[in-house]
Amino acid sequence: MSDTFKAILVSRDAEKNQSVEIVDLTEADLMEGDVTVAVEATTVNYKDGLAITGKAPVVRRWPLVPGIDFAGTVIESSHPDWRKGDKVILNGWGVGETHYGAFAARARVKGDWLVPLPDGMSPHDAMAVGTAGYTAMLAVMALERHGIVPDRGPVVVTGAAGGVGSVAISILSTLGYHVIASTGRNAESPYLIDLGAAEVISRDDLSQPAKPLAKERWAGGVDSVGTHTLANVLSMTSYGGAIAACGLAGGMDLPTSVAPFILRGVSLLGIDSVMAPKAVRLEAWRRIGADLDLQKLSTLSRSIGFDGIIGAARDIVEGRIRGRVVVDL
Ligand code: NDP
Repeated sequence: MSDTFKAILVSRDAEKNQSVEIVDLTEADLMEGDVTVAVEATTVNYKDGLAITGKAPVVRRWPLVPGIDFAGTVIESSHPDWRKGDKVILNGWGVGETHYGAFAARARVKGDWLVPLPDGMSPHDAMAVGTAGYTAMLAVMALERHGIVPDRGPVVVTGAAGGVGSVAISILSTLGYHVIASTGRNAESPYLIDLGAAEVISRDDLSQPAKPLAKERWAGGVDSVGTHTLANVLSMTSYGGAIAACGLAGGMDLPTSVAPFILRGVSLLGIDSVMAPKAVRLEAWRRIGADLDLQKLSTLSRSIGFDGIIGAARDIVEGRIRGRVVVDL
């Protein structure tokens, strides 16, 4: 079919200068895959910001339609699991990095990458969660597997006003945890308390070089910042606690010592959403359907149109986005 649809395309020239534009594509321009989806909602994640601005080497195939996640309806399928009309979600698997992604009205992907939209959730809701929220749920599940239940003590969430942070606070508070939110935006304290944070602390408390061990302040945590922040979070974790590390919004390094691990038995739990196996994804989305309050989801998200994607991508890498941004197509 030759109908055109709008897409965002990132390209680079012979000198490797990156540019981004809105173009018209047809389905014939899409990459290989056994399922074609009408994209109904997508979102702007931190990684999408890096891809569109070129601030980090997320894009590894040129030119590329970025966008790492979408929700929509199957319009064509030769995959045994999917039929025309099925409602689906996609997160990761290199989509928006090496495979044409979500910032287009149509996407062609492998059926194995898709999961069903949970009952009672719209494509808009699923993208208000998005990869950031699904990652937050993976982090919560990792803490639970490690025995970090609400009775063990408080949990800290860094990068609190961001996407991963906002969803993590919502889920953890709904599950009964005492959540300590760490933010660089003190003006967002009422927002964080509304989401369920019991305490709000300043990002500055955690941003200086860490001591090997410091006063024990929490039993667990979800960190999306990395660098000195993660090092401080580890040094302040109580005996036998665990921290789920999922991000690098502050930096990719980890200037810590072995002290929290060998003297307090603290564990560092790595979280990856991109290549997570299908069974883990299905469980994470089931838990999102069960444990994420839709009222809080609407508090932490706002909608933009397709034309707002590039601006939102620039804002997110500057730390100017609060919560989640949903793109309704
Ligand atoms: P956001 O930009 O929405 O949130 C990041 C938050 O981190 C900001 O809102 C800000 O929170 C804080 N922050 C930003 N810059 C700094 C800084 N220099 N120092 C300290 N804190 C800072 O991004 P997301 O929530 O979407 O993603 C967060 C991180 O998680 C990213 O690094 C992303 O790449 C990663 N990620 C990883 C995934 C995985 O599979 N492992 C999947 C999804 C995301 P505040 O203003 O409250 O301080």
